[in-house]
Amino acid sequence: MSTADRLLILAPRGRDAPVIVAQLAAAGTTAVVASAADIVDAVRAGELAAAVITDEAMATFDLDALSAALAAQPAWSDSPFLVLTRREFGGWTRARLASLLGNVTMLERPLHTDVLVSGVRSALRARTRQRRAQSYLLARESAEAQLAELAATLETRVEERTEALSRALIERAHTQRRLRDSEELYRYTIELTAQTPWTADADGRLIAIGPGWVNPSGRPITAWQSLVHADDLAGMLASWAIATAGVAPFICDFRVAVAGRLSWCRSRAAPRVAPDGSVVRWYGTLEDIDDRRIAADKLRQMQSELIHVSRLSAMGTMASTLAHELNQPLTAITNYVRGSRRLLADQPGFAAAKHGLEEADRNAVRAGDIIRRIRDQVTRGDAQRQPADLSELVGEACGLAMIDARSSGIDLRLDLDRALTVLVDRIQIQQVLLNLLRNAAESVAAATVRRITVTTVATSTSRCQVTVRDSGPGVAAALAERLFEPFNTSKSDGMGIGLSISKTIIEAHGGLIWHEAAAGGGAIFGFSLVRVPS
Ligand code: ADP
Repeated sequence: MSTADRLLILAPRGRDAPVIVAQLAAAGTTAVVASAADIVDAVRAGELAAAVITDEAMATFDLDALSAALAAQPAWSDSPFLVLTRREFGGWTRARLASLLGNVTMLERPLHTDVLVSGVRSALRARTRQRRAQSYLLARESAEAQLAELAATLETRVEERTEALSRALIERAHTQRRLRDSEELYRYTIELTAQTPWTADADGRLIAIGPGWVNPSGRPITAWQSLVHADDLAGMLASWAIATAGVAPFICDFRVAVAGRLSWCRSRAAPRVAPDGSVVRWYGTLEDIDDRRIAADKLRQMQSELIHVSRLSAMGTMASTLAHELNQPLTAITNYVRGSRRLLADQPGFAAAKHGLEEADRNAVRAGDIIRRIRDQVTRGDAQRQPADLSELVGEACGLAMIDARSSGIDLRLDLDRALTVLVDRIQIQQVLLNLLRNAAESVAAATVRRITVTTVATSTSRCQVTVRDSGPGVAAALAERLFEPFNTSKSDGMGIGLSISKTIIEAHGGLIWHEAAAGGGAIFGFSLVRVPS
């Protein structure tokens, strides 16, 4: 029972109320004398423990207010009333009282104190049970509310977690896709570069090698050494041992037996090093460099052929110059010898002198023949003329000319008519091109703009021309007149025969060679060639 609950006694006649209060107090129960309005207020406030009313007190109630207060009680509350009645009382039947007051106990007067006390006690017990039921209900409601709140919180948490989880899943899917993309990119790159990746442990033992590794024998990768050419194996292992011992990059070329044939491979590797300096892994690539080596061999062979031909041509030009220079004195010797022979012819005797002059004449003629033959041979050359693709010739010559260090940093531009075929000795025409390109490269060496432009163009159905234009200072005026004559050079280490050899070669091919100053500075050297239908 709530501490605010009061046991109210309403007995308007005489000293009835205080007597009842005293009786109850004697039995240990506290009661208060109250008015009808007090009882209605207590019902309204939910503070009525029980009300003891005498039947005549019913007349003092505002019945509407009482019935409204009783009707407005909360569900748990059923305020108990004890009505002390006489057998007959002012129109109030038991039924009417029960319907108005609800929880009502009738106690007939005259009343024994024990009956009153026991009636009041049972009403108070009933009220206490109601209160307990109320607090139980309240506790249940609050537990339910807490439960509902908990459920709501849980639901929110679950929703948040689910959302976080789905975000994490989406992020994971993105990461996996990025990973797949990057793996694919890596794979394509590896496939495109034609390099086979491999890894080795810190001690240099092969762990894995990419799919590009062709192993026709199906041997395990640990047996890779058996595929390396016996002559290259020791050198390769030594380089690898040096690299692993010194934690230094590794590069080595060696031959590998692939599909029954030997091909050159280049292996490179670098260590991944931990912060303490120890090697975590070696990462390397294996590349088939057979084509590159073949091309390099071919280039070397072409270079040596060119050097050889250059020497021959230089000697030929010198011989031709000598022949030219010797021709006049030889003609003079022949004339003098013949004049002397004519003078002696009419003279008797002098047989030995006549014989000597005859031999001198014959040998001078022979010397003349030798000289003529040498000149013929040089100008004609023992040329091997065959149809050749002019663009290809220019490309090869440019490749050769641009190899050396002096040519680095030069902007070489090609403007080629790709449909030109010429009938030439390849080596000789390459020699001409090489000579013009080297001169051009030397002339732009100190220039601010270092550009060389090679152009090929058809000038008629039967002729075409090649020009090499450079951005250098141009040909020195003093040299311009005698540019194609031998031994004219402005270089301290030059021989001055390159252009004269070129002239000999081009003219022997039925073409012309020329020089002109380029508009805006620089030199243009050009030559023409005979075309053949391609
Ligand atoms: P060399 O290069 O040995 O001197 P060349 O006969 O090839 O012999 O050239 C003769 C000279 O012509 C060169 O020394 C140089 O003075 C001049 N010459 C040739 N090509 C050029 C050029 N592109 N620009 C300027 N001068 C050139």
